[in-house]
Amino acid sequence: MRPEILNPLFAEAEALKGVGPGIAKSLARLDLTRAIDLAYHLPTGTIDRVRAPAASSALLGRIVVLDVTPVDVRAGAGKAPLRIYARDGDDNTLTLTFFNNPAWAKKQLPLHEPRTIVGKLDSWGSEWQIVHPEVLEPGKVGDVPLREPVYGLTEGISNKRMRELALTALERAPELPEWIEPSQLARDHWPAWRAALAETHSDPGATNAHKRLAYDEIFANQLALLLLRQVARRKKGLPLQGDGRLSNKLQLPYRLTGAQQRVIGEIRGDMAQDKPMLRLLQGDVGSGKTLVALLSMLEAVEAGAQAAMLAPTEILARQHFATLQRQCEAIGVRIAILTGREKGRARESVLMGLADGSIDILVGTHAIFQQHVAYQKLGLIVIDEQHRFGVSQRLLLSEKAERPPHLLAMTATPIPRTLTLTHYGEMDVSRIDEMPPGRTPVETLVISDAKLGEMVDGLARHISNEGQAFWVCPLVEESEAIDAAAAEDRAAILRQRFGDNRVGLVHGRMKGPEKDAVMTSFASGELAVLVATTVIEVGVDVPNATLMIVEGAERFGLAQLHQLRGRVGRGAGASRCILLRGQNLSETGRARLALMRETNDGFRIAEEDLRLRGPGEILGTRQSGEQNFRVASPEDVAELAPIAQGDARLLLDRDGGLASERGQAARLCLYLFERDAAVGLLRSG
Ligand code: ADP
Ligand code: MG
Repeated sequence: MRPEILNPLFAEAEALKGVGPGIAKSLARLDLTRAIDLAYHLPTGTIDRVRAPAASSALLGRIVVLDVTPVDVRAGAGKAPLRIYARDGDDNTLTLTFFNNPAWAKKQLPLHEPRTIVGKLDSWGSEWQIVHPEVLEPGKVGDVPLREPVYGLTEGISNKRMRELALTALERAPELPEWIEPSQLARDHWPAWRAALAETHSDPGATNAHKRLAYDEIFANQLALLLLRQVARRKKGLPLQGDGRLSNKLQLPYRLTGAQQRVIGEIRGDMAQDKPMLRLLQGDVGSGKTLVALLSMLEAVEAGAQAAMLAPTEILARQHFATLQRQCEAIGVRIAILTGREKGRARESVLMGLADGSIDILVGTHAIFQQHVAYQKLGLIVIDEQHRFGVSQRLLLSEKAERPPHLLAMTATPIPRTLTLTHYGEMDVSRIDEMPPGRTPVETLVISDAKLGEMVDGLARHISNEGQAFWVCPLVEESEAIDAAAAEDRAAILRQRFGDNRVGLVHGRMKGPEKDAVMTSFASGELAVLVATTVIEVGVDVPNATLMIVEGAERFGLAQLHQLRGRVGRGAGASRCILLRGQNLSETGRARLALMRETNDGFRIAEEDLRLRGPGEILGTRQSGEQNFRVASPEDVAELAPIAQGDARLLLDRDGGLASERGQAARLCLYLFERDAAVGLLRSG
């Protein structure tokens, strides 16, 4: 079976009926660029709507279909939302709130004309409120199903439309030969691949179908990592052994921790081999990974090679550069930075320095691996917190060089062992399991959000003493637009109290440079409060920010909360993290937050999180960085990764060239999920 059978699925989204450039652009915001992405854009649940004559407290929190008549409208000043007031069948007044597109809203809801609206009934103080209701065209109420699978959406695409698109894409999916052992399929009642996809779209709760799809994804991932290791190990590397002439000169105000010494020993041991190192360095936030990176890079430089360090964002690259530059210049090591912002002359001179060997260490963003960036002798690559540095990029590194450089990936995400398997299964693991001495642990409090007002007062006191603070807003909906709107709302409220120029806002819908600008003014102390969604999870180092307030804390993954909390407690002062919780918390929800209060141990938190997290409580993990699977949830990963890894190993042991019938089928599975890398991974086998 040739991979061409999958071609229709890999067609651009625009090739689908009814998708023009506009829709394609909207879809691209959700990374849905090909038919297959849509076929795999699975519903996240079902929505149940209630047709109701009028708002009532019994309906709070439900999605209601209501007939209303708009009676008044109030345009928001500045960034405040547009509010349209409407009457329902019982003469209640409802506030319909629109954070964006006010012109559209006013057109949809002309005053004194009856309309049917659909949306989640909330209360806002003593008023009924619906945020961003859908407005039905007159006479179209029959078109609204009362029960419907719901999809992750983006502006410009309705749920109904998204579903149509997904089903259209699904039509392009062929029947595929089976890559799973028949006995396993039978035992767990797993449907065939295509049937599983179709079933999941019509019934998001179909467990067996879901498990099968999750398994496929994890299996492909395991296969890719095993093949990647084969490819990476097939070539000879550069044996690099330093002589200490640079590292011994480093002026450190402290001694290395035992853990730092141990992992540096492991890294040096690897680098001295003529096989390329593939090592993952795990260490909690603040455990001192940067110094390990520096010592590893100096090892390469002492041995006559260059080193490059890749950071996930521009701002982190600059931060690393600032730290490393001080240390390097003191010992005569030449270091440079390269990001999207270095242009013209500055860029040219970096490129020349890399090519002629006059730059020893380069720090930067993805720009450091672009086409025309040529190194004289690149011996070591350090990758900091780069979850998106996926299989195909790692493959490229191994393929491009005659003798591939050593690779050191660093992460503070306290990934449990099972998850390490899926992300870095081809790597050896080093752990820094000890913190530098003398840290004041962050004090964590869990407080009901009924006390939000008092929190704001506390915040006022904190910033009037020159303090700075983070205010983190949760991911509330499967829609970035609404999450961003909630953060905007919070920022607006805090700005009213503290002034526009004291409160900054960053969220995932802002562009990189825009975000960086806000982060920079927070780091410089201009802004006292930074309101943010989880985009600050892996982010700036602002030692003066010693207070963090996390709204809706129960909605976050614990590992994610831990990462967030790592943003404070970085300076000399004592720090505090306040977790605001909702008022109707489940037992599990309470236990999870209590754990955060009890421990600062990231690994313990990650393991417990997997154990405690009920299926209903994984909202908010979607951007947690630990998870880049489309289908598989962390629970699926914990359950299925060991099985999938065993299966992938067994298959490769029996049929290294993937030539058998089962092997051919497994190739297709690999193409489905690792298309960009598949050709390289499968070449020569
Ligand atoms: P992370 O592992 O999160 O990247 P960093 O490398 O940024 O942590 O280190 C956090 C802080 O700890 C830095 O200010 C660094 O200078 C300091 N540090 C690193 N190693 C030690 C050590 N052995 N003793 C004391 N402080 C250290
Ligand atoms: Mg770091």
